[in-house]
Amino acid sequence: MEKTLILIKPNAVQRGLIGEIIARIERKGLHITGLKMMQLDDTILNEHYAHLSERSFFKILKDSMMVTPVVAMCVEGLDAVETVRLMVGATNARKALPGTIRGDLSMSGEQNVIHASDSVENAQAEVKRFFSENEIFSYESAITAFEYGGEERAKM
Ligand code: UDP
Ligand code: MG
Repeated sequence: MEKTLILIKPNAVQRGLIGEIIARIERKGLHITGLKMMQLDDTILNEHYAHLSERSFFKILKDSMMVTPVVAMCVEGLDAVETVRLMVGATNARKALPGTIRGDLSMSGEQNVIHASDSVENAQAEVKRFFSENEIFSYESAITAFEYGGEERAKM
């Protein structure tokens, strides 16, 4: 099953939005197979945000990600990476559509409450970066037949 990585950012932890964000993921029918709170440091953030290392806001962004622990989640489902990105909405939350997590919960392009992997390839690397193998629990769902159609289940 396709996996993706979600981080509930420190601004969401401070604002008491952990439950709201987890509830949206669960209600959608995505399965949470890894879940923990962790304190990020410069080393992991240099890797995680390597694509932004030349940007003016790089240090500010990293500092903002260390203010409190984050909640890291591994989430599984058919096309989980793309589905979660659609649920998250645009990076600049002021431009994120209503109904999306950022569109409903944030006014900021930086303090935008959530990280989600942006490609299947990056998701595989990011799940490995934040979780060890024994922290991922891939269990059988008892209700898959009510969450997906027959043709979809054949692809899983
Ligand atoms: N970010 C920022 N200013 C920008 C672009 C990005 O502060 O102009 C921050 C923001 O918190 C964003 C993170 O850097 O979520 C990672 O940027 P990316 O382009 O990967 O966006 P995302 O994948 O989070 O939508
Ligand atoms: Mg990104």
